[in-house]
Amino acid sequence: MASSHTVLMRLVASAYSVAQKAGVIVRHIIAEGDLGIVEKTSSIDLQTKADRLVQMSICSSLARKFPKLTIIGEEDLPSEEVDQELIEDGQWEEILRQPCPSQYSAIKEEDLVVWVDPLDGTKEYTEGLLDNVTVLIGIAYEGKAIAGIINQPYYNYQAGPEAVLGRTIWGVLGLGAFGFQLKEAPAGKHIITTTRSHSNKLVTDCISAMSPDDVLRVGGAGNKIIQLIEGKASAYIFASPGCKKWDTCAPEVILHAVGGKLTDIHGNALRYNKEVKHMNSAGVLATLRNYDYYASRVPESVKNALVP
Ligand code: AMP
Ligand code: MG
Ligand code: MG
Repeated sequence: MASSHTVLMRLVASAYSVAQKAGVIVRHIIAEGDLGIVEKTSSIDLQTKADRLVQMSICSSLARKFPKLTIIGEEDLPSEEVDQELIEDGQWEEILRQPCPSQYSAIKEEDLVVWVDPLDGTKEYTEGLLDNVTVLIGIAYEGKAIAGIINQPYYNYQAGPEAVLGRTIWGVLGLGAFGFQLKEAPAGKHIITTTRSHSNKLVTDCISAMSPDDVLRVGGAGNKIIQLIEGKASAYIFASPGCKKWDTCAPEVILHAVGGKLTDIHGNALRYNKEVKHMNSAGVLATLRNYDYYASRVPESVKNALVP
């Protein structure tokens, strides 16, 4: 019998369960103690066993259920049979009980592109900054990011043994974002969150021009968007290439679903169709509120150095 749920809501419900399984894998690999670190392009561009296994888990699990999807994962992996233990078949019932926004109700599987960052914040993961790490599954339609799932495997890891470890945040444009408590950043303060491991002169020049009250340097694009929606930072500024479409797709949806804005440093919307260049060459500028304050202060010299 055909499911009464739309393709989009079934995909989001499945991706939620897949992201939870990913969190279990990420924690399991830390517990085992062998991270299997490989340098990709440089010593600040790493891959671990968790990046590899989680990508296999997410991509294979979703491809089995939704064979016509386009799935683009960060890691370059040999195509091989994936261990059955890595496959997640569940779907989160609570999501299936939500209505699909009407503009997405007729979407077909083959119209969707899924951007997967199996582990965002790998550098910090290898250094034990575990709450910087997220698993990102972003869903795009007609080039626009419309649904996203973020699992934070080590949420609460410093909160003591009673606290529940890990959480999953999800959202769909037109429906909302769930799994966290929206909080405003301190009024009248400019608290900027930015890269910890991938800074350079353009990044610091751009931040200085915004007269920040405070600058937080943390790992992960997913983590920085969580800081925006939980009131810890007022803007995420990264005036450099380096961040890719799988880093921004899911986080952008969560931010947009609660009224925020994420663009490149020139103010252009990011596009997520399957043919698009993976690199966000013109950086990232994201806020929950007061986007114009930050956008208007990006120096011309920084803009000129960052070609979209
Ligand atoms: P960060 O804020 O440094 O954690 O960066 C956010 C995302 O962009 C992470 O997935 C990083 O791996 C990626 N990224 C940013 N800059 C670079 C770079 N120079 N080389 C490789 N990856 C980068
Ligand atoms: Mg990443
Ligand atoms: Mg990654």
